[in-house]
Amino acid sequence: MSEILAAAVNWVVTVSVVYAALVATYVVACLVIERMSRPLAAAKMQARTTTPEQIRRDRRQSIVSLAAIAAMFGTGHWLYAEFGIGWQPVRSWWGFILSLVASMLLFDTWFYWFHRLIHVRFVYSWVHRWHHLTVTPVTWSNNSDRLIDNLFLQSYWLVAHLLLPVSPLALVIHKLYDQITGVAGHSGFEHGGIWCWPPSPLVGVTHHDQHHRYFLCNYATHFSLWDRLMGTLHSEHDAELKRNILATAAAKRAHSVPAE
Ligand SMILES: [Zn+2]
Ligand SMILES: [Zn+2]
Repeated sequence: MSEILAAAVNWVVTVSVVYAALVATYVVACLVIERMSRPLAAAKMQARTTTPEQIRRDRRQSIVSLAAIAAMFGTGHWLYAEFGIGWQPVRSWWGFILSLVASMLLFDTWFYWFHRLIHVRFVYSWVHRWHHLTVTPVTWSNNSDRLIDNLFLQSYWLVAHLLLPVSPLALVIHKLYDQITGVAGHSGFEHGGIWCWPPSPLVGVTHHDQHHRYFLCNYATHFSLWDRLMGTLHSEHDAELKRNILATAAAKRAHSVPAE
C-alpha cells in the first residue's frame, strides 16, 4: 500500500514540476520575444493587429493547455522512471546527440501527420478550430488549444520512451526547444535569421505565420522536410521567408543607428 502511495506522490510531484517548468518557459519566452520584437515594427509580417481580448483568451487557454501537456509529459517520464517502461538510452555522448536529433525528427513527423488529420473538415471543427480563431498570432497564442487538440499533437510526449531509446534529459531539452521555438513561431516577426535561410530545413517564424494566414499549408513544426516532400509547403514560402529575414535585419540595423 505504501508503495502505491509513494508512486502516486511521485506522479503528482513529477507532473507539478513539469507544469511549473512549462509555464515558466512559456511566460519568459513570451516576454523576451515580445521585447525583441518591439524595435522591429517595420518588419511585422501581418498588417492586421490582434485585439487585447483575443490575446487574453490565448494567454488564459495556454495556461490551461500547458497543464494537459505537463500531465502527458510527466506521466511518460513517471512510467519510465518508476516502472522502467520504455527503451533504455545508449549511454554515450553520441547516443545522446543522436537520440535528441531522432526525437526531433520523429516528433516533427508525428506533428505533421496529426496536424494534417485535424485539418480534415469534420475533425477540424471539434478539435483544431479554437487555435485558428487567432489569424494574426502573437507569442501568447502558442498553446491556445483545446484539450482534444493536445491529445492529437502533444501525446508524443506520453509515449516517447516507448518509441525511442532517448534519455529523459534529451527529451527535456527537446521539449524546451519546442516550447521556445513554438512561442517564437507565433510572434509575427521573423526571428529565425540565417539558420533558416533556404535550403536550411529549419523552419522560421514565416512558416507557421503562413499556416495561420493561409490555413491549408505548412503543417510541420521543426523542419520544412515533410511539407516539401508532400507538396504542402506554401508556394511563396521560401521567397517570403527570405524577404522577412532581410526585413528583420534591416529593422535591427535602422534601430541600432540613431536618427540624425
Ligand atoms: Zn493548424
Ligand atoms: Zn499556431
